[in-house]
Amino acid sequence: MTGFMDGKVFRVGVLAVCSLLAMGAAAWEYRFVPVEVTSASAEAGEASGQEARWYVLADDGLDNLRLPDVRTPVFDSRTLSERRQLGLPTQLPPIAEAHTDHVAYLTFDDGPDEKNTPVILDILKTYGVPATFYVTGKMAQKNPEVLRRIFAEHHAIGNHSYDHVYKNLYPNPQNFLAEMEKTDEIIYGILGVRPFILRAPGGSWGMFTPAYGPMLVENGYVEHDWNVSSQDAAGGKRSAAELVANVDAQTDRVKNAIILMHSTTGKDSTAAALPAIIELLVRKGFTFGVMSPATPHP
Ligand SMILES: [Zn+2]
Repeated sequence: MTGFMDGKVFRVGVLAVCSLLAMGAAAWEYRFVPVEVTSASAEAGEASGQEARWYVLADDGLDNLRLPDVRTPVFDSRTLSERRQLGLPTQLPPIAEAHTDHVAYLTFDDGPDEKNTPVILDILKTYGVPATFYVTGKMAQKNPEVLRRIFAEHHAIGNHSYDHVYKNLYPNPQNFLAEMEKTDEIIYGILGVRPFILRAPGGSWGMFTPAYGPMLVENGYVEHDWNVSSQDAAGGKRSAAELVANVDAQTDRVKNAIILMHSTTGKDSTAAALPAIIELLVRKGFTFGVMSPATPHP
């Protein structure tokens, strides 16, 4: 099974490189990485007909992360502790923010759960839309197959702490960093790669002191909050129509839309609203991208 899948990866990869070179996108270095295909993720991939299992993998020197395509996730093959042990850089080189206009970044926090995340993945597959899942270490440990499916279906994955407990995360930057590293190790243990991107639980506004910024830079993490909230985590049960209306009202005057949603059990309205949210954004002229270290900050 794995050899067969690897063969498909290789063929798809060659085609993708040729078309990218033809488009003059040579500055963005793609690398093709055979994903360790488990039976569950292979079945998911085969069922969807999705064959492209590739993404950008950082070099040991972190020097191949220029000008990312907005649809391509970026990962590291080393954990931070490995980088320190091997004397490799942990700090990213300067990465220019992508000059994008009307790109919508669908982001789903707090998963992966076993109920709504698969429904959300099915909808994204139907529409051919990529998204970003900011996962917690605790949920990744609980639902590793769902995390593998997110990865195999070409979505981006970001770090969202181990268990989302503010009192453990926000006394000081060292606590925050330790929890991010713990979560990276869990993601790495499941996927063999780890993300550079993260989202601070609750958002960095009001949570980070000025000391958090240098800590993130030194360790190569890039934090993104959001500029559009579906308000699916606000108090009380929100209907799908309310969530769609919230996204509609906040996407009239934004250049790019980083849209906050949640993929946790109990957020049934989010999955129910997602088709209408995608259709709304298409009508408004948005295309879709995944979060990366080059995503413009809201
Ligand atoms: Zn959260």
